[in-house]
Amino acid sequence: MMKTFTERDARPDALAGMTVAVIGYGSQGRAHALNLRDSGIRVITGLRRESPSMNEARNEGLTVMDIDAAVTQADIVMVLVPDEEQARLYRDGIAEYLRPGAYLGFAHGFSVHYGTVTPREDVNVFMVAPKAPGPMVRDEYAAGRGVPCLLAVHRDVSGHTAEVGLAYACAIGGGRAGILQTTFKEETETDLFGEQAVLCGGLSALVSAGFETLVEAGYAPEMAYFECLHEVKLIVDLMYARGIEGMRAGISNTARFGDYTRGSRIIGGTTKTAMRGVLKDIQSGAFAEEWIKEHEAGKPRFNTFMNAWKIHPIESVGKRLRALMPWLCAAAKPTAVPPVSPKWNDDEMKFRVC
Ligand code: NAD
Ligand code: MG
Repeated sequence: MMKTFTERDARPDALAGMTVAVIGYGSQGRAHALNLRDSGIRVITGLRRESPSMNEARNEGLTVMDIDAAVTQADIVMVLVPDEEQARLYRDGIAEYLRPGAYLGFAHGFSVHYGTVTPREDVNVFMVAPKAPGPMVRDEYAAGRGVPCLLAVHRDVSGHTAEVGLAYACAIGGGRAGILQTTFKEETETDLFGEQAVLCGGLSALVSAGFETLVEAGYAPEMAYFECLHEVKLIVDLMYARGIEGMRAGISNTARFGDYTRGSRIIGGTTKTAMRGVLKDIQSGAFAEEWIKEHEAGKPRFNTFMNAWKIHPIESVGKRLRALMPWLCAAAKPTAVPPVSPKWNDDEMKFRVC
């Protein structure tokens, strides 16, 4: 069982007198900066001079500085820019400005594990990876709770890196839930595998293959969309709250019997063989190398895939059907006026798009 800590295990004064520079103000950056500040920690947000988030961070009452100035003043530097940007940022804007003996933090192990960032020898390196998107990290903290975090130490020069990392995880709310001890290698490889094989790659392929199968067999794309994409959420919500058998307890017996007898015909031995291949590319570094090269070349394949998927029929039918669901429009545009009821046109089969 993984070693799990809570706030009772943290030394309350481990961050006393320390300044944290949070670099980046995206999904994670905003949540970390605000939670740390509300936990009584001195925080500086480090942003590029041209950053569009500058005003947003200032309006939240945060102190915003250029990245080099923020790093110079910090005891802890938390790197919360996209993984593929971290190598250049570390090389040009962090390495030479870090105080001797500073702590360098990450929320994902990619850059350190695959060596795109090689932290200076005198610097302590840890990871605190919340297991939720940034807005949830913030909302849970604000509600007096927290989301579980992973904690890992890559280099411990001071002899205090684990307790500093643990205190950091507590200060963003993780100690109210649970902080699980792992390594940079384990976190990086399982994270990449999960997103490629199951969460993003696997699920998108499963959903679109199901949609295509129904449409190619002559069924209406609207029906295919509802059955193969829209209802994924209902099932995933049940799994998320209750596990797989808990989900099955919440569906009809017909659905449950179909699940037991047909699921392994879809995802069977050949899929697991493919999954092992995907895992091998992650473990060998082949995937990381491919992605870094792709980024350096200006993301040509990335953009080709993106453009091809944008015109997949599941996107156009989805757009029309989502316009029937006002709660989705409200979620996507929190400040927008509530949409008028969508209108159905029998001839064109068109809905008003919000
Ligand atoms: P993001 O894309 O939401 O935000 C990135 C921020 O960095 C933005 O403020 C952007 O303006 C800034 N930025 C972009 N390029 C930059 C550059 N070259 N120099 C300086 N600033 C730059 O990123 P995110 O999703 O918050 O991810 C940050 C880290 O957190 C990553 O390591 C990611 O793997 C990790 N993480 C993300 C999540 C998540 O759910 N989003 C969860 C756990 C861990
Ligand atoms: Mg990931």
